[in-house]
Amino acid sequence: MKQLAGYDLHTHSTASDGSLEPEALVREAYAAGVRCLALTDHDTLAGLSRARQAASELDGMHFIDGVELTCLWNGRVIHLLGLGIDPDFAGFGGYMEQLNNLRNERAEEIARKLVKKGLPDLLADARSNAGQGQIGRPHFAQAMVERRLVLTPQQAFDNWLGQGKVGDVKACWPTLESAVGLVKQAGGFAVIAHPTKYNFTFTRLRALVDDLLAAGGDGVEVSYPGVTPNHLRDLLLLAKRKVLSVSAGSDFHSPEQRWTALGRFPPFSAAAHLLRSLLPECTEEWWYDAVANA
Ligand code: AMP
Ligand code: MN
Ligand code: MN
Ligand code: MN
Repeated sequence: MKQLAGYDLHTHSTASDGSLEPEALVREAYAAGVRCLALTDHDTLAGLSRARQAASELDGMHFIDGVELTCLWNGRVIHLLGLGIDPDFAGFGGYMEQLNNLRNERAEEIARKLVKKGLPDLLADARSNAGQGQIGRPHFAQAMVERRLVLTPQQAFDNWLGQGKVGDVKACWPTLESAVGLVKQAGGFAVIAHPTKYNFTFTRLRALVDDLLAAGGDGVEVSYPGVTPNHLRDLLLLAKRKVLSVSAGSDFHSPEQRWTALGRFPPFSAAAHLLRSLLPECTEEWWYDAVANA
């Protein structure tokens, strides 16, 4: 069985919480054997033009404009991938500005809450770690490691920032419906990211998928690091029953995260692969391997 899929439809750069600049991400992906790459930064399109330019300089590299939108569904935070979007769609302007404001306000609130628990004020450090990019909890995790408050970013999430912890500050993210609407208006495909990472039962997941479809959405991510063979099988079945497209990606953030690598996720093939819609003209072997009837 091949180690690499030849494509990767879920990755991050310094435009959000990734550690590689968009150009470096594209080159690393290419070096790893990826020939179709989507950049899907959290709540920003800022890295796309640089990544697309870098990809255009590499022979046989296909680039997909993407985004990972934070949104709310029944009071729970969901990540929605928009793949194959037109980044110049005018509706992105106000929407992204709103997300940027929400993230900045939330960062201030995270810092305040941590101070109340006796930690130093980490806002300036987190902002500096975010640089020009969209600020998020990983930038606080990094600040905690740098100040030796914790040993690893994972420990920062386990103790302070993860689900239910003091730094897990709620924000009024846009609804799933509006995120799907935006992606569709921008000509993209709307895909639920890493469905098993929300700690939902499959009954709840089916309800989420029903609401995705009702909003005009397209598919689910079925393969990503951490998905179990059983979950991969169940997600493929769910997609088949609901007539959804399927997608996959590494959710790559940094070479330091040794459990992820560009182009690497559990292998599978599916007739309803989103690659069919994203690259309809493709004739390359990896593409056929991915979209073949399973
Ligand atoms: P935010 O978008 O600011 O809410 O941060 C979410 C990001 O933090 C995710 O995209 C991951 O990169 C990272 N993250 C979330 N939960 C964890 C966790 N439990 N451990 C490590 N990283 C996490
Ligand atoms: Mn992230
Ligand atoms: Mn995510
Ligand atoms: Mn992601």
